[in-house]
Order: sequence, then C-alpha cells, then structure tokens
Amino acid sequence: MSKNIRITEPSPEMMGKIIQARKAIAEQKPRYIKCPYCQHNSIVVYEDTRGHVETKCKKCGKITVFDVLNMRRIRVKF
Ligand SMILES: [Zn+2]
Repeated sequence: MSKNIRITEPSPEMMGKIIQARKAIAEQKPRYIKCPYCQHNSIVVYEDTRGHVETKCKKCGKITVFDVLNMRRIRVKF
C-alpha cells in the first residue's frame, strides 16, 4: 500500500452531496452482498441501488461486478 495517499477535504458542494446521500439512505434498508469467493460482506447496497456495481473485496482482494437488480430477493416495483 502506498503511504502517499493525500486526504483532502471535499469541496463544500461535494460535502453537501455527501450529507444528502447520508440522509437519503437513512430510511433505506441496507442489503449486504457477499463476496462470492470468500463470503465476506463485500458491498452494501440500498433499496434504490440499480444496475451494476463493481466492488473490490476488502478481505480477499477479488474484484466482482454485481448486477444489483438480478441479485435482489425482494420484488422490484416498476
Ligand atoms: Zn472476498
């Protein structure tokens, strides 16, 4: 791992978006998708998550693309 990661404060505009996103997910149930390789909970998606997400498992380091809609167990409203 690089030690040269620079952390900078997000711009006020970006901060606003982060706060909005936090509020938006506060009332949604998170769903944990397990890494298919090591069964570690590798990604959290919310009820309004649609489409494909790519995640790198923090445990085993494998990169997996999930089709969130196809992985849903609850019925999707159209
Ligand atoms: Zn994994």
